[in-house]
Formats: sequence, C-alpha cells, structure tokens
Amino acid sequence: MSGFEGRSVLVLGGSRGIGAAIVRRFASDGAKVLFTYLSSPDDAEVLAAETGSEALRADSGDRDALIALIGSLGPLDVLVVNSGILGAGDPLDIPPDEIDRLFRINIHAPYHAAVAAARTMPDGGRIIFIGSANADRMPMAGLAAYSASKSALQGMTRGLARDFGARGITVNVVQPGPTDTDMNPAEGPLKDVMHGFMAIKRHAKGSEIAGLVAYLAGPEAGIITGAAYNIDGGFAA
Ligand code: NDP
Repeated sequence: MSGFEGRSVLVLGGSRGIGAAIVRRFASDGAKVLFTYLSSPDDAEVLAAETGSEALRADSGDRDALIALIGSLGPLDVLVVNSGILGAGDPLDIPPDEIDRLFRINIHAPYHAAVAAARTMPDGGRIIFIGSANADRMPMAGLAAYSASKSALQGMTRGLARDFGARGITVNVVQPGPTDTDMNPAEGPLKDVMHGFMAIKRHAKGSEIAGLVAYLAGPEAGIITGAAYNIDGGFAA
C-alpha cells in the first residue's frame, strides 16, 4: 500500500543517510518529495533522479534563507527535519563558533522550519523531527552539545504540539539509536562500544527509521502528537 499520493513532503537534509532513506520511502509511497542538501550535490542529484524527487540546496544553519525557502514552497503536508551534525570532541577544545553552528543546525533550524511550514500547512499536517536516543541516554564523553541539542527537540516537540494541535497538525520526534550512515558506520571503530549499550546489538538501517517516520506521517497516526519515539535497539532502555 502506498498512501501518500498527492501529498507534498519536504525533508531537510535528504542527500545521504537517514534522510535519503526517508526520501526513498515517501517517494515510493507516492508523495511529491522535495529535499534539501548542503555539501553533497552529487549524492543529491543521483537520489533526485532515482526517486523522482526534487533537490534544493539550502543550509539549515542559515535561518533566514531556510525560512524564506520554506515560505516559497507553498503548503506542505509533511515536514521532516533530519539535517543534523555531530560535533564530537573535548568541550575544552571545541571552538565556540562550532558549538553555535551545531545549535543553529540541530535546534534553531527545526524550530524555525516547523513554524515556517505551519504557516501554510493544511489541517492534519505532520511535523517530524529526527532527534536521537542520546536525548535520553548519553553514555559517552565528548557529545554534550550534541545530546543537549537532541534533548531540546523533546521540549520543542511538546510545545509545538500544543501550538498546532487545534489544527490537527501533529508534531513528534523520532529518536534513532546507532544507525548505519556516514555519521555512524556499522563497521566504525565505536561499533562494539555502542552495541554494548544495546539489547539488540546491531546498527539500524535507514529504512527502519524511515518506516517509523512514514507511520507517524500516515493516516493511522493522527492522534499521536507531542511524543518522542526511541527506535534504538534498546540503547536508551
Ligand atoms: P549523515 O551525516 O550521514 O547525513 C546528514 C544529512 O544531513 C546529509 O544529507 C547532509 O547533507 C544533511 N545536512 C547536514 N548539515 C546540513 C545543513 N547545514 N544543511 C542542510 N543539510 C545538512 O547523518 P545521519 O543520516 O546519520 O543522521 C541524520 C539525522 O539522524 C541527524 O539529525 C542525526 O543527528 C540523527 N541521528 C543519527 C544517528 C546515527 O547513528 N546515524 C543516531 C541518532 C540520530 P549534505 O551532505 O548535503 O550536507
């Protein structure tokens, strides 16, 4: 079953990894899919050609450009904010500008994108943030800013769910655990450490995360809002 025919979907950060899996899922379900990218134009072009979607270059760290872009697209039925960066390292060494940019991409962009989309989103629309299981459990050093940014999405989700609920617009955050992407390769050096925190000791596939996103965007999920969903092999359990 498809189910998204005629629906307009925007995925912020769709050129690679989890975002690309979400683009593929909505495109195969019949949606008209737009996605943004920044540093990977070749991946974006290949994905757009493969899926019949449209790639738009837009930096999630540029607030005003992002708001203007979303305002120019016309009503969106579904907004997925997936773009995010990791910024790992000793907090005593990371330059403050790098932390500010992480917060702009991981916190400010979801907020402003959601508000911009909600201005024209029809009743019953869907806003979905890609957070992280690190919002609930941070068992490693060097990721304080990243985990703070993902915890911020939980409060944002609860608040915006209240703001837009009267229009039937739902707002939820999907929180993956280790997922096989460039950011966190399944065969990377921290594989065994991460699997040690999990009940099901493997990285997720992007398609598994995309499946939960599609469910939350679909007709059976109209009563789910203000919620955070871990999809993490028990990482945060
Ligand atoms: P990747 O680094 O593999 O891909 C990131 C994607 O986001 C790319 O498409 C990239 O586009 C885009 N992106 C990054 N910064 C920007 C920006 N400033 N403007 C526009 N697009 C941008 O990451 P993942 O697929 O692994 O992660 C996706 C999301 O899932 C992130 O929010 C991440 O925090 C979250 N997550 C990932 C986990 C994992 O284990 N992989 C676990 C938990 C959460 P481009 O290359 O074109 O710049």
